[in-house]
Amino acid sequence: MLYQRSSELFAEAEKVIPGGVNSPVRAFKGVGGTPIFVKSAKGAYLYDEDGNRLIDYINSWGPMILGHAHEPVIRAITERAKLGTSFGMPTELETQIAALAVSMVPNIDKIRFVNSGTEACMSAVRLARGFTKRDKIIKFSGCYHGHSDSFLIQAGSGASTFGIPNSPGVTQGTAKDTLLANYNDLESVAQLFESNKEEIAAIIVEPVAGNMGCVPPLNGFLEGLRKLCDADGALLIFDEVMTGFRLAKGGVQELFGIKADIVCFGKVIGGGLPVGAFAARNEIMNYLSPIGPVYQAGTLSGNPLAMAAGFAMLNELNQNDVIFKRLDEKTTYLENGIRDVLTKNQIAFTINKVGSMISVHFNETPVIDFQTAKGGDNETFKKFFHGLLKEGIYIAPSAYETWFITDALTYEDLDFTIKAIDTVSKQF
Ligand SMILES: *Cc1c(COP(=O)(O)O)cnc(C)c1O
Repeated sequence: MLYQRSSELFAEAEKVIPGGVNSPVRAFKGVGGTPIFVKSAKGAYLYDEDGNRLIDYINSWGPMILGHAHEPVIRAITERAKLGTSFGMPTELETQIAALAVSMVPNIDKIRFVNSGTEACMSAVRLARGFTKRDKIIKFSGCYHGHSDSFLIQAGSGASTFGIPNSPGVTQGTAKDTLLANYNDLESVAQLFESNKEEIAAIIVEPVAGNMGCVPPLNGFLEGLRKLCDADGALLIFDEVMTGFRLAKGGVQELFGIKADIVCFGKVIGGGLPVGAFAARNEIMNYLSPIGPVYQAGTLSGNPLAMAAGFAMLNELNQNDVIFKRLDEKTTYLENGIRDVLTKNQIAFTINKVGSMISVHFNETPVIDFQTAKGGDNETFKKFFHGLLKEGIYIAPSAYETWFITDALTYEDLDFTIKAIDTVSKQF
């Protein structure tokens, strides 16, 4: 496959956009080479500016769970656009999607919509601080909660690819209120509570981590976090920006039966438009402006096009929850296929999978946290990425990312992918 046109477009972009991209991982720094410019996408496939068709395993980093240009979502957006695209005033649609989300997700009474996952997590932490009247938060190395200042401390994926654990521009003052623990290591969390008694507002966690590859919580980890929070009076924030409306209707709370105090959403909830949201029980949500003291706002929050897309998406997932089972089956099929060919070709690897999130690590050892995720062989990953690209398969251009399986993938696509992985891994 040739990328002449993409290279030219990238050169033009670099002149007027820093690094040629509006989000760093897109620049291919983790794998080398030139980013691919997309022309269009439909179902499970991307069509690039050079005339290639690629099977897409990223799906806009999650939102396109039902495939690209999904008919009901596109219809909802186009119909809505004719009625005006933004008012800065309430619409009935906002109540409809809020009511639907609240009915699908356990333990939430109210939800507030914002414009990105970053905003959702940032606002959730502010709310937790206001509600508990405490300043500190605990986050886990390798977990990503968007690019707001408090979170850019060992933030996984994008940041890790570039080896910048702490971004310049984040002040010492902000950094000192973010305490770091190790994923799947309850002892590291218990120690932080021990040395910061009644000072911690919240733990924020990806309940299934997806920004250091896919890293499932070990048995008892999430239960343990719940207990530690309850014992100290801290809140437990589940960042379900990636997992929400993907792993189950009700996200990880439903999947593993663990109760969070605040839940953050993004990605799927916007159906491919820029949407985030955070939600909690009444007692907490009523702490928010205009009825409570914690301020939070947005000119385009609850934007009608975004709400229409999100509503169409959630509606379909709600009415058709066999989708989650089907996604899980497709992902298991892919997992087994990859396992077989990599074993046959004598490659050292680990595969992690939860529902429709999966990642392949070129590691000898299990990947359970950021430390072990970083142990993967990046040179092999680069060959893997570029090899698959030649075969017409697009996976994330970084070893620290999860693949997002879409329902639009057919078993033929999966077989084709497994065969390509066989071909590529023979040449490692
Ligand atoms: C993607 C992601 C975010 C950030 O969402 P944006 O919409 O990119 O701001 C936050 N948390 C998690 C777990 C994510 O995967």
